[in-house]
Amino acid sequence: MPTRREFLKTSALMAAGSLITPSFILKSKPKVVVIGAGFAGLAAASWLTRKGIHVTVLEAHNRYGGRVFSHKLNPEKQHIVELGAEWIGASHERIIELCQYYKLELLDNRFDTHLIYEGKYYPKNTWNYSENWQQTWERLLEAYPHMSEDEKIRLDKMDWWRYLVNNGMDGRDLEIRELLDSTDFGESIRHVSAFAALSEYAESSEKNEMDFKIKGGNIRLADAMIKEIGSERVLLKEPVVKVDQTGNTVKVHTASGLILEADKVICALPTLAINKIEWRPALPQDKSDAINALQYARINKHVLYYNHRFWNDESFDMVTDGPAHYFYHATKNQEGPEGALISYTIGDKAAFIARQDDQFRSHMIDAALQPAFGHTQDYLLHQAMYFWGDDKYSRGAYAIYRPGQWFTLMPILRRPFENVYFAGEHIADWQGFMEGAINTGEEAAEAIAS
Ligand SMILES: Cc1cc2nc3c(=O)[nH]c(=O)nc-3n(C[C@H](O)[C@H](O)[C@H](O)COP(=O)(O)OP(=O)(O)OC[C@H]3O[C@@H](n4cnc5c(N)ncnc54)[C@H](O)[C@@H]3O)c2cc1C
Repeated sequence: MPTRREFLKTSALMAAGSLITPSFILKSKPKVVVIGAGFAGLAAASWLTRKGIHVTVLEAHNRYGGRVFSHKLNPEKQHIVELGAEWIGASHERIIELCQYYKLELLDNRFDTHLIYEGKYYPKNTWNYSENWQQTWERLLEAYPHMSEDEKIRLDKMDWWRYLVNNGMDGRDLEIRELLDSTDFGESIRHVSAFAALSEYAESSEKNEMDFKIKGGNIRLADAMIKEIGSERVLLKEPVVKVDQTGNTVKVHTASGLILEADKVICALPTLAINKIEWRPALPQDKSDAINALQYARINKHVLYYNHRFWNDESFDMVTDGPAHYFYHATKNQEGPEGALISYTIGDKAAFIARQDDQFRSHMIDAALQPAFGHTQDYLLHQAMYFWGDDKYSRGAYAIYRPGQWFTLMPILRRPFENVYFAGEHIADWQGFMEGAINTGEEAAEAIAS
């Protein structure tokens, strides 16, 4: 049976015609404009640069990296945390290859999960699901590779919560599973396609792709790609406002009045940002409908920088059933004594916490950590926060495929529109990951160059 990756490729090709073969063979090297300097756009531009193809990247923000956002907490101590993407998975082959190519070191960023549930603290290795559920889960994972395509399509029509319940999960098992899995999808698991969830868990590394991160911050991969592209070719603060396709030429207009002419364009934007552009001619109706149907997950990252690491475990993470939801040690592998925890919240919890002030947040965190560590507020040096639900360009952390959407929306969103090709995590087999953004960027570049 094909994996999620192979299956999507086949269904996308069936639904949308070949994505890999362009509609005509180019006789000379095209001039390409890439919209968006996130990992998808930068991967596309660096791939084209390696082939000697002229490329210009237009980025709306005053920084590059998009949803990869490394933040220096204390430059003197080189303490860096990730406000956006954190983990590189052991199965994420292309990003690992690129790190090797650019000589970026990957650090082990695996954690052992503690739990606070109903006011009681359970250190790592002292809690688990019931024996019954552990056996059921193993059976479900073993069955996954044998599922037929029809079964997968049927599974996509159900939500992940319903799937777990239908398979006998209940009570404490279900509550803990919901707390853990919702951090993966950034909203309630009642909103997530059961196919999207099961395929991710069945095809992922043992730690669910929470394996590594780049020494010095994940943004260093963007730094390296930009060095290869040439920084003069990546124009910041140039939001694209209009894309005009006439004949074989595409005119890309930015808010500052810049107009770039290109043979081909790669649009590496989240769907909200695609929608803000004036398209001439207009985007096809089915694409526009698919853009409007896709939702994004809300995640808040609240960084707490302490004068020492009272959690006493470099590989500390913890799920709680309180409003602070999930904690992890964000300065693992960085020298102490100071250290940072991140409180990672999702959905309504994330939006609520983002609307409060620092005093409220620090009290809330103090109360959340109390069953495990007593009062910790006196150790707090400072806080930082980024709420992706308010991000001007994505209004969310990553796309969330709801029941019935994986096999219907994605092929439409992937389809090129005349001389514009699309890229970004939202149309990737590894959807929601940096790996997916890179894969789609390189695939779009390859489609243009072949
Ligand atoms: C909180 C959080 C946690 C995450 N955790 C992980 C993780 O642990 N592991 C992992 O692999 N992934 C994780 N991700 C997902 C990962 O960050 C994304 O999948 C990936 O970075 C998306 O890249 P992209 O290039 O598709 O989009 P983006 O990074 O969003 O890039 C799009 C770019 O386009 C720009 N732009 C928007 N509009 C315009 C315009 N009109 N003109 C020009 N430019 C424009 C934006 O400013 C942005 O720079 C996480 C994301 C978040 C937010």
